[in-house]
Amino acid sequence: MVDFQKLLNNKKQNPRNVKEMDPEIQEIKTKLSEEGLNITEADLKARFTLLSGFGVPKNEIVRSVLNYFATQGGIDTKKFYGGGDNAEVTVDTLTDENMWGTVRVKVVQLWNSEHESINQVGLVGDATGTVKFTSWASAGAMNMEEGKSYLIKNVVTSKFNERMQIGINKKSVISPVDDEIEVGYATMTIVGALVNIQNGSGLIKRCPECNRSLRNGVCSEHGKVQGTYDIRIKGSLDDGTESHSILLNTELTEQVTGINQEAAIAMAVEAMDQSVVVDEFENRLLCRFFVVEGTKMDQTILVSSMTPLGEIGQEDIKSLKAAIPAEVV
Ligand SMILES: [Zn+2]
Repeated sequence: MVDFQKLLNNKKQNPRNVKEMDPEIQEIKTKLSEEGLNITEADLKARFTLLSGFGVPKNEIVRSVLNYFATQGGIDTKKFYGGGDNAEVTVDTLTDENMWGTVRVKVVQLWNSEHESINQVGLVGDATGTVKFTSWASAGAMNMEEGKSYLIKNVVTSKFNERMQIGINKKSVISPVDDEIEVGYATMTIVGALVNIQNGSGLIKRCPECNRSLRNGVCSEHGKVQGTYDIRIKGSLDDGTESHSILLNTELTEQVTGINQEAAIAMAVEAMDQSVVVDEFENRLLCRFFVVEGTKMDQTILVSSMTPLGEIGQEDIKSLKAAIPAEVV
C-alpha cells in the first residue's frame, strides 16, 4: 500500500532527485506501455520518490520501479533484461511467495543451522529492509561472511512461519561486491502488556572479551572469565493478537524499572542472590501496558523507547491509532 503522506514528505525533501530521473521515468513508461501496461507518470514518480527517500542507488531504483509495476501488471520481468537472470530488486518488494529476483545485500547475521540440507542461514538486508535467507546445501553456492556484501542472482521467495524468506538454490549465483551496502531496518510501534520476563534478564555478567552474557560465569567462546555486570530485560509483549520478543538495553532497563545498575548490584550483594533483581523487575513491570517502539532484528524487537500506557494522553493514543495501518487493526 502506498503511504501518500510519506511520499509527499519525501517529495518536499528530494525535489531535485526525482527531477533528475525524468529520462529514466520516461524510459520505464515506454517499456511498460510496449507490454500493454499504461502507468501514469505521477505513479512512476511516486514510486521513484519513495525509493530515493531511502537513499537507494539510482540504477537500483530504476530496476526496482520497473520490476514493481511489471510484477503488479502480471508481466514477466525477464522480458526487460534479455539474459536468463532475474531483475535486481530491493528487499522491500519481496512481499509475495514464489517471486524470483536478484538482490544486492549485506549479510547482517549468520545463524547456526544443524540441518544438513542447509548450508547457511541468516539475515541479509539492503537500504529498504532485511530478510531471512536460507542457502540450501544442494545449491552448492559459496559461503558468505557476516558484514560483507554480495550480489545474489536468482533467489526465490517463500513463507516460513508467516515470515517471508529468500532461498538460495541451484539457479542462484553469489558474487561478492565491493560497494558498502547500508542496511535499513524496519521500525515498529506496539501497544501491549508485558506478560513475561525471560531467563537472562535482570543483573547479568558479560564476557569482557566478546560481550556475550555469561552462564554460571562461563562464556561460550572464552570459557571461565571475570565478567562485568550489566542489566537488561528480555521480555514478551502481548498486543492482544500476538506476543513479541523485546530486548531492553542497560539504559532503557534503568529508565523503565527505576533501578540503576549500581542499585541492582547493591540489591544482589545484600541478598547474596542475583535473582532478587529480576524478581523486583517483575514486581514493577509484569502485566502492565506499554507503548514500545523499536527495530525488528530477526525475531526480536530492539527497543528504542518504552512508555507506560498510563503516562500517555488521549491525543497520543489517537495519533498512535492513526499511524497503525488499517489492515492490522
Ligand atoms: Zn567471550
